[in-house]
Amino acid sequence: MSLYKNRRVLVTGGLGFLASHLIEALGLQGAIVRAVDVRTEPENLPQGVEYLCADLRQPAACQQALRGVDYVFHLAAVGWGLHENMKRQPQLLSDNLLLNTTLLDAAYRAGVRRYLYTSSSAVYPAYLQDLEEDSPWDQPPHDSELAFGWAKRVGEIQARVYYRHYGMPIAIVRPANPYGPGDNFDPKKSHVIPALIRRAMEREHPFTVWGTGSPVRSFIHARDAARGMLLALEKYAVCEPVNLASSETTTIAELVKLVVELAGYGDAQLQFDSTKPDGHPRKVPSVRRAAEKLGLVEYIPLREGLKETIAWYAERHQVLQEPGR
Ligand code: GDP
Repeated sequence: MSLYKNRRVLVTGGLGFLASHLIEALGLQGAIVRAVDVRTEPENLPQGVEYLCADLRQPAACQQALRGVDYVFHLAAVGWGLHENMKRQPQLLSDNLLLNTTLLDAAYRAGVRRYLYTSSSAVYPAYLQDLEEDSPWDQPPHDSELAFGWAKRVGEIQARVYYRHYGMPIAIVRPANPYGPGDNFDPKKSHVIPALIRRAMEREHPFTVWGTGSPVRSFIHARDAARGMLLALEKYAVCEPVNLASSETTTIAELVKLVVELAGYGDAQLQFDSTKPDGHPRKVPSVRRAAEKLGLVEYIPLREGLKETIAWYAERHQVLQEPGR
């Protein structure tokens, strides 16, 4: 029987993009889900999901959110795409530290049975290119991710201390560049995939690409990331971080080509905008531990995931152009 059947599960950041996929997966496993977020009006939550609007930087709000809860998936975080993150470093650091600290301590006091902390590939030292979970933090994160990376690092240390000291079962995942239906398509704040999809569907001319196009990334479909999170809490709540990435890698220039082709805009005239940052030159997380410890071996291919996301976007924005095949 599923670990989640009839269990009361709290999902923080419950109105977020990754959470939407996680909540769907939890629903399929028979969990009773409470989502908590800061927006007053919940949008697009599946039927049967309880919603609570609360600021989890406040201990009383955490206590209220945790009432009667068996498991916690802590996804709430302040963070956007590369450029916006670089402009809002103080807020990223303070809010994420406060959120993580207050919620973890309240969850321990509430006696939750299992807890998942969502970390990030931003924790890795800047010089590292092939990201292994046990790589030492002997250098700071990439400068573009300094505040976010440090806040996520401290969150992992907090988890480790609570795990060791109190024996609290905690899973740590480090998702890398999740994408998929429901992503944030806000042009200023979004990550690269939704930004490119939106501009391709709007037939931007010339078609802007930030930076040089040379950075290398691996992107994970949010459904795969959600699957990894469920498995991590179930099988590996031992406070050892697990990368959630995909085994496929691509340069940003290759990604752009694929997106414009799938969006039916293969003749887009590309213009690389050197006033925008490249960020980390190569972020390629190892997927070995996810395979060994979670049994996560099959991933939605990037091409398939992009097609699905473009179709999702087109449907909601009544785009007239037919997406490519
Ligand atoms: P990162 O993995 O934290 O750097 O997250 P992003 O998804 O924001 O950026 C990934 C890469 O895509 C970076 O090298 C960006 O410079 C590049 N990129 C190209 N065009 C865009 C765009 O329109 N928006 C964003 N966010 N990134 C872009």
